[in-house]
Order: sequence, then structure tokens, then C-alpha cells
Amino acid sequence: MLPWVVRRTRLPLLSLRCVDCPSESATTGAGRFRVNANGKLLHVWLLVRCVSCDRTSKLAVHERVPVRAIDPATLDGYHDNDQELVASRLLDPLIARRNRFSLDWTGAWELHTPQARLDERWPVRVEVGFDDPVPVRPERLIAQGLGFSRNEVLRRIKCDVPPRRTRSAGFTFTVMAVD
Ligand SMILES: [Zn+2]
Repeated sequence: MLPWVVRRTRLPLLSLRCVDCPSESATTGAGRFRVNANGKLLHVWLLVRCVSCDRTSKLAVHERVPVRAIDPATLDGYHDNDQELVASRLLDPLIARRNRFSLDWTGAWELHTPQARLDERWPVRVEVGFDDPVPVRPERLIAQGLGFSRNEVLRRIKCDVPPRRTRSAGFTFTVMAVD
């Protein structure tokens, strides 16, 4: 079994309409949170800015939650703009849905494949793992990883998931020998 890994190289951009200009793209930049305590209630936002006009928008991470409901280490992380926390909140599908943005992964990820001679023993099984939830089409990923044309993928690959349906979770496939 050959392991392949899909991994981000940076944080993705956000597809988010700017209220000030026609741009529909925003970035977390260096990654900053804003924390506001109102009595015993806490608001936490992730700050993003328009890539075109720099306008800052606030994405709600927590709204009016009791201070005690948030783990103290996590709260420290919000205050310190912890980069892992920025990534995990940006990639959280619930936060994306609530704030009505989607992620633009263009150019923000790469495929790691081990150096291995593929033609030694057939068939070859490949297991694709995802370190980050990058949406990919298996068919395209396989073509990229093997340097195959789409026709070769159709002819020589047996994929255990629908090859044209975008996914961001692990799967396996088998490369058959040339017949
Ligand atoms: Zn803008």
C-alpha cells in the first residue's frame, strides 16, 4: 500500500463578498482574533480582510457564550492569536456555514507522494490521506499524482469511491497493470 497525503501549504482564502467593493475574496492574513467580554458573556471573532480593499470583517466564532463554557487554554489561544486555532476555526464547516463563506483552496495545498517505482508489482494499492480538508476530485488527484491522462485513469484505476465526486476525506484506489 502506497501512502499519499493531501496537505495544506498555507491557509485557504475565503470566498466572501466584500461590503465595500466588488471583491469576493478575503484572507485571514497573519491570523487574528478579537475577544470581547460583556459581563460573563463572551464574543470571539476571527478577523479577515478583503484582498482588494483591505476592509476588515469579523466572523463570529463564539457569540454570547458563558466564559466558563470555553476551555481556559482555548481562551488563552484566542487572546494570543494562536495559529493552530486560527486554522482550526477557519476550517470549521459550522463556522463557515454560520458566517456564509466558503474556502478557496486554489494554490493552498499539495499532494505528497512517496518516491516509488510504480511498475514493479501490479496491481498497486494507494491510500490517500488528508491532513487538511481540501476538497478534491479523486479522478483529478489520481491523474496528477501518477502523471496519467484522464483516459488512463479511466482505464487503469479502480477507485473505492465515486471518482468524480468531490471529497475531502481519505480513500483508496488500485492501479492496474497496462494490458
Ligand atoms: Zn473590498
